[in-house]
Amino acid sequence: MLEPMDNQSIAEVFEQMAELLEFKGENPFRIRAYHNGAKAILDLDEPVAQILDDPSRKLSDVPGIGKTLVDKITVLVATGSLPQLLELQEQFPASVLAMARVPGLGAKKAARLHQELGIDNLAELKAACETDQVSGLKGFGKKSQQTILDGLAIAQAAAQRKKWVNADGWVARLRSHLSGCDAIERIEFAGSYRRGRETCGDLDILVVADPAAAAMDHLETFPPRKETILRGDTKISIRVDEAFQVDMRVVADDQFGAALQYFTGSQAHNVRVRSMAKAKGLKVNEYGVFRDDDPDKSIAGAEEQEVYAAVGLPWIPPELREDRLEFDWAKSGDPFDLIELKDICSDLHMHTTATDGEATIGDMADAAIARGLTAIAITDHSQRVAMARGLDPQRLREQWARIDQLRPQYEGRLTILKGIECDILEDGGMDLPDDVLAEADWVLASVHYGQRQSREQITDRILGAIANPHVTAIAHPTGRLINRREAYQVDIDAVFQAAAETSTLLELNANPSRLDLHEVHCQTASRRYNIPIVINTDAHSIDGLDVMQYGILQARRAGLQKQHVANARSWDAMKPLMGKYR
Ligand SMILES: [Zn+2]
Ligand SMILES: [Zn+2]
Repeated sequence: MLEPMDNQSIAEVFEQMAELLEFKGENPFRIRAYHNGAKAILDLDEPVAQILDDPSRKLSDVPGIGKTLVDKITVLVATGSLPQLLELQEQFPASVLAMARVPGLGAKKAARLHQELGIDNLAELKAACETDQVSGLKGFGKKSQQTILDGLAIAQAAAQRKKWVNADGWVARLRSHLSGCDAIERIEFAGSYRRGRETCGDLDILVVADPAAAAMDHLETFPPRKETILRGDTKISIRVDEAFQVDMRVVADDQFGAALQYFTGSQAHNVRVRSMAKAKGLKVNEYGVFRDDDPDKSIAGAEEQEVYAAVGLPWIPPELREDRLEFDWAKSGDPFDLIELKDICSDLHMHTTATDGEATIGDMADAAIARGLTAIAITDHSQRVAMARGLDPQRLREQWARIDQLRPQYEGRLTILKGIECDILEDGGMDLPDDVLAEADWVLASVHYGQRQSREQITDRILGAIANPHVTAIAHPTGRLINRREAYQVDIDAVFQAAAETSTLLELNANPSRLDLHEVHCQTASRRYNIPIVINTDAHSIDGLDVMQYGILQARRAGLQKQHVANARSWDAMKPLMGKYR
């Protein structure tokens, strides 16, 4: 049976429409209408189909959904597709559209390359850049040709792997779809998703199901399924989205733990586990644990714990299974006790309506209390960030006066810190004078401009900020954006060294597109240099405060415990960690 199109799928159609219309050079208002419509539908807490079915209600009453969109939704719900979208897709095949997603290129320029040079896909685009055809085009030049080449490398990688947060969205939809299958008794998502890797190449589902065929039939009715790549007796692979593969394996109940351990990986981790097993005269595989002298009888495998116990290991949290420090840690006998969301006491990086945020200080404060926090720092941008109306000394002091007014209201419930996200200027030095920074409770220093400078220049700029006694932490220390922008060139060890010497904290920015520090850097900073890490959301809205969970996942991958995370303690207990307060 064909299920009516769910809200997420309708929103995706609208996003595709918007992207294609932009590519076509359509009226921006029309494009905006589709974006807004997509958002409005995602925000609904009931299926659109339900509203359409109810004669007493009107879909056009939903804010963000105009008349034209109502017609399109009606068609979508009834037929599962939209003729206008198919037409546009005919005009601009996916391979052409992929060019629009190349960082630094964008829809307009991509469309011109398509029209003027007849470039149809990423491979042709690359060839055209390499043979210098693009730089000759009006408005392009050598520099933008190089930018496209750099962007191509990122776009190609991005096409292969989804950010964890996006994979998580697919997991939620699959879980909800599969929960409607009575044959499924147990379900777990394995692979890099379970390990919390910042990007996932595919999804691996393990289920216990009877009959197995019913579970696979049900997966094939997942509305966004594009095709079934293969189907056997106990394994099925489907494709969703453009190139995202979802594998599902049906395993026996008493082998579930062994399969989960096996398919969670990583491969490097499993190689180590198997060699430890071998030394004990055992064999570990996806079906269980077997003794060399009795290879037909599994001695463990229903639960992961048993598999680890059989080779003499405690259960290892999936986030650590990368063959980095987990085996040494396990041998030391210390409990893993990784940081958890509930350990976090404060969020010390957020923006408000004073600059590019969407909520006021009071809104953010209330939302922080609702999330169980005891302190926040208001850290709007400094004046250099003109496009976000960054604060000059006067406006910043006005904001702090406002915080003084608000504080009594929050007494005993929430500490509101006077903070700033102060730019580190391109020529070095801070964007605000020292006497202003001295009045702040909390100063984040950030590199936003001049990210293409040399390694030496950028390192010097950051070291300069760390040497400033008023700076309490370096925000998003490497500037990377996952799948979009590489980290800037920086001598990260020099940064760690200086931060450790001056007791300057380092941020793990929890925004799922940043996750900056990278987990390996985070581990080095914490373990080797003993630098306290502060996990912040960099929220620009109330909802933005909820990204803390992604920072926690990244911190767990770095092996961080409560003691390593500065803001897993109260603000008063944090102060002694910082040079500014010594
Ligand atoms: Zn920033
Ligand atoms: Zn920020």
